[in-house]
Amino acid sequence: MRENDLERYIDKIKQMHAKITPQRIEILKIFLSNQEDHLTTEEIISRLSDSKTGQATVYRTLELFCQAGILKKVNFKNEDFARYDLLDLDSKHFHHHFICTQCEKVIEINEDLLEPIEEQIQKEHHLVITNHELIFRGICQDCQNKSDINE
Ligand SMILES: [Zn+2]
Ligand SMILES: [Zn+2]
Ligand SMILES: [Zn+2]
Repeated sequence: MRENDLERYIDKIKQMHAKITPQRIEILKIFLSNQEDHLTTEEIISRLSDSKTGQATVYRTLELFCQAGILKKVNFKNEDFARYDLLDLDSKHFHHHFICTQCEKVIEINEDLLEPIEEQIQKEHHLVITNHELIFRGICQDCQNKSDINE
């Protein structure tokens, strides 16, 4: 996490004309220090220093962060609750994900090789593409190693 990252995300909240409360800062910091994770509301509540913070308060903050372009709701595994993913302020695209079909681990893929494909689709279909999301599925390294042992 870069030094001024927190400030830049706080600016996003300010742009929404929303209050910068200590609770909101704490929730933001939880995401910044767990960037690889896709946290649920419950997981965020369990990491807050004030255990009395209600679920409704946290939920409202997460909705605000989504509107501010800080978080994105994700649901890779057809779960009946939302997970939240931190958006990278420097990247034009939402990062990609790999999901292991054996252990369901989610790995973030930051390489973006799709610009030429976007250009081609835009040209052929006369569209303006503003974003894309991509999920790769397969077998993670740990599961590959496990199946080696079983052989
Ligand atoms: Zn992610
Ligand atoms: Zn796996
Ligand atoms: Zn991409």
